[in-house]
Formats: sequence, C-alpha cells, structure tokens
Amino acid sequence: MVSTFPLVVLALSLLLGALYTPLDSNGTFASQKAMKAALVAKKLLMVTAHPDDEAMFFAPTILALNAKVAAGEIEFALVCLSNGNAEGLGVTRTAEFKHSADALGIPANKYWVVDHPELEDNMTAYWDPNVIAQVLQPYVLDLDIDTILTFDETGVSSHPNHKSVPAGVQTLIKNLGETSSKPPLRLYTLVSSSITYKYISILSVTLGKVDVYGYRMMRRLENYIIDVLSIWYTDLLNPTFPRHPDGHAMPEFISGYEGYSKALEAMQAHQSQLVWFRWLYVAFSKYMWVNSWVQLSVPS
Ligand SMILES: [Zn+2]
Repeated sequence: MVSTFPLVVLALSLLLGALYTPLDSNGTFASQKAMKAALVAKKLLMVTAHPDDEAMFFAPTILALNAKVAAGEIEFALVCLSNGNAEGLGVTRTAEFKHSADALGIPANKYWVVDHPELEDNMTAYWDPNVIAQVLQPYVLDLDIDTILTFDETGVSSHPNHKSVPAGVQTLIKNLGETSSKPPLRLYTLVSSSITYKYISILSVTLGKVDVYGYRMMRRLENYIIDVLSIWYTDLLNPTFPRHPDGHAMPEFISGYEGYSKALEAMQAHQSQLVWFRWLYVAFSKYMWVNSWVQLSVPS
C-alpha cells in the first residue's frame, strides 16, 4: 500500500508556503484602462460604513497600503461614514474603531468617524447619495484625493448602508467633475464574492495566489509574443500605448500570517460586536485574507 504520509506533508508544506508571505498584484491601483496613460493612485481615501468594516472586510488592503505609505509612495486615509449607533453604542464603537485602526497601523490623524443624522447605522436604510457626496467632499478636497476605495453595489454582506456608498461616491465624482479641471477621481470597489467563495478562509489565499501568478505568467507570454511579432510589425511597440507592467489586472491583496493576525487583533478591538457568529466569520471569511478590487466608471 502506498503511504499517504508524503502527500500529506507535501500538501501541508504547500499550504504553509502559500500562507506565509503576503502578495499583491497591483498595489498602486494603476489604471485598468490599458489604452490610456498609466494612472497610478497616489492619494487614496477608503470609505467604510460602520466601525468594524475596516477590520472585517478591508484589512488585507489597508495592511498592504501601509507598506507603501511607509515607503513614501502613497498617502492613505480612511473615513467611516457612521459611528454604528444602531443600538445606542455610537460612543463605544467609535472608541473600538480607534483601537482597531491602531492595530491596523493607521495613524490617528488619517482616519475620521462621521456622526451625521442622515447617515445612521440602520439595517434597513439606504443612505442618500447626495448626503454621502456632501459629507465626503471636504475630505476629498482637503487631502487632494485621486482615488477612492469602497464597497461595491452588493456591499459584501448586502447591508443597505454598505450598498449605498458607491452611489454616493459616484455622485461626488460627478459633482466635482463639473467644477474641477483636475483629472476625475477614480473609484475602486471591493468585489463581493458569492456565498460559497466568501467563506473559504485560507483556501482563498491559494486561489488568489494562483490567480495573481497565473496572470503574471500570461502577461510575460503576451510580452514575449509581442516582442517576437514586432520584428515584422513595428507598430506593436508604439510608445503612445504605454503598457503598465501589471496591465489591466484586477488589484488583489493577499495577506500572509502576519496580516491575518493583525486583522484578528483589529477584529478583537470591536468587543461590542464579537457575538458568536462573528467568530465563525473570522474563522471562515476570505476577506480576512484576500481583497479583490475592480474599477467602477462613473456615468456622465
Ligand atoms: Zn458594516
């Protein structure tokens, strides 16, 4: 009988190897529009809806961007649009948010928790996009933001507050576009996964890495084919079509062990929210490990 022991060791080694190091595909949120000049995000604003969203959903991105902040490549700030006062816990949850931001390495002068009467934490309320735009505008102008990161229209958990945010940002971008001569703000949204893919925990790390490395391999192959063909067709190397090394890859951030433990620490800061099913979330959610982003264009 063939022993399964070597196979188990191999599988465990591969898994440990996959979990060990973080990886990101395109940490600068370069433009995904291949035919345009490569626009690279320099000043990013993340917009969340409630205290704990930053830890539950966005930690892999925040942690990857921290490294780029430390290297002086980008600036990063975060606005949380409500203080999570649904059960009268607004003050407690604001304090918890501060501990969480601390665990995630966001400096105290780079985050704000908004307390606005029309942006109340409510499981059934959609927020008015005009109010969101109005609230965000001063942050965007003061910080000279070029890229906003937030939920997509499904809001990861389908919470209507989450789902309201991208429409609010789109309204803001439209409003600013009418008055500003600067390049339009760009909006990236966190991809909501289907329910089965959402709770695959560490498997998401392996799949995410296969995705990123697979894309890079295809990209190299494409470049090689272009180099060969350009011997006969010189137009293919036309410099008016700049080619970002990551092309139009979806930005993807995959945490390693260290990132996961920081996300866990941030989650533990939200003591008032840590009911039993949150622990299941922490154990199984892919968002503790992997964030995928897509650029959302703004209809004019
Ligand atoms: Zn939330």
